[in-house]
Amino acid sequence: MPKTLTAAGVLLLSAALLQPVPADAWSRKGHVLIIRSAVKLLADDAATPAELRTLLLEGIGDPAKLDALEAFVLAEPYGSTQGPLAAGLEQFSFRPDELGSKHSRVAAFDNTEDRLHYLDLELFHPDPERRGYAPDGSNRPRPADLPRDWHDGRYAKAGLLPFRVEQVYANLVRSLAAGTSAEEAWLWMGFLSHYASDTFQPFHSTVNYDGLQCPVNLAREKEARYNLHFEFEDRIFSDESPEIRALLPEFWKQYRDTLGDTLTAGATRPAARLDPYASTLEALFDGYELLPVLCRAGADALKGPAFDRRAWFAHAEDLDGHRLSVARLQGQRMALATLAVRNLLRQAWDDAKRSRS
Ligand SMILES: [Zn+2]
Repeated sequence: MPKTLTAAGVLLLSAALLQPVPADAWSRKGHVLIIRSAVKLLADDAATPAELRTLLLEGIGDPAKLDALEAFVLAEPYGSTQGPLAAGLEQFSFRPDELGSKHSRVAAFDNTEDRLHYLDLELFHPDPERRGYAPDGSNRPRPADLPRDWHDGRYAKAGLLPFRVEQVYANLVRSLAAGTSAEEAWLWMGFLSHYASDTFQPFHSTVNYDGLQCPVNLAREKEARYNLHFEFEDRIFSDESPEIRALLPEFWKQYRDTLGDTLTAGATRPAARLDPYASTLEALFDGYELLPVLCRAGADALKGPAFDRRAWFAHAEDLDGHRLSVARLQGQRMALATLAVRNLLRQAWDDAKRSRS
């Protein structure tokens, strides 16, 4: 430690090093919650093959964690997930963000890891004038505007998330079919959990990934603009002030409600087979619809000179017939991510079984 650093300087430096990188879609705690919940859904489901259940439980480590999800969210200090994560599924469910912040090379896509976590939809709008974020979110292209070929030059910049989900899914099926090693299966399961979850983060579907192009920010002086991304990511967990802690049960209730009580009643199977690429793209398009809501929440929170986090999480709108606050909306998106992870893991197991027989 250089002698010239004062104690305050050391504190500032430490705080800067602990700042999350932009690729952390749901934060370390969020990704751990999603993989634990997905494993619990499968472990509690009587229809889950015993061999898969054993593999998942071994990958999670201490099974007591699965019965303590509520305490993990509501009571456990945020700091518990900020050190090294448990080896196996939890570690691998966050590992892609660590590789992303290092711009690790991924030769299969002739790109770097950080580009695999998002897809900026506007860049595919047929009208070149509309390839930026519009204040009302109306520059969303149509799904048919996106070719299913990652070699299309636009993806190198726009991001490759749906292709990464498809590739990781295929790797998982191959690994399970070959039975190479539990560790390799956990790696692809954890990676699949990570990328599939990222697709439910609205800020990963847009060039307005930081919210700086929301009307409220455009109306402010440049230096007074406020990055909204992290507010819909780790702040619901990391802000341990009493006023935000008081909103955390709203997040948790919506998370549980959206899972449809499957945590205790056993999960139902999806009606149709999931195409890893297409279902991912659909989640990104759905999330894009929420960007104007998040922009308006930002306007509520930025009425004064400082960001009012309580106003942000309390901002509520009618969505699909339900009154949802931003705290609830985050619970809903993360629960949908959990269900997608659960369904893809289960389907990958069945695909692997089929390819062996
Ligand atoms: Zn990510």
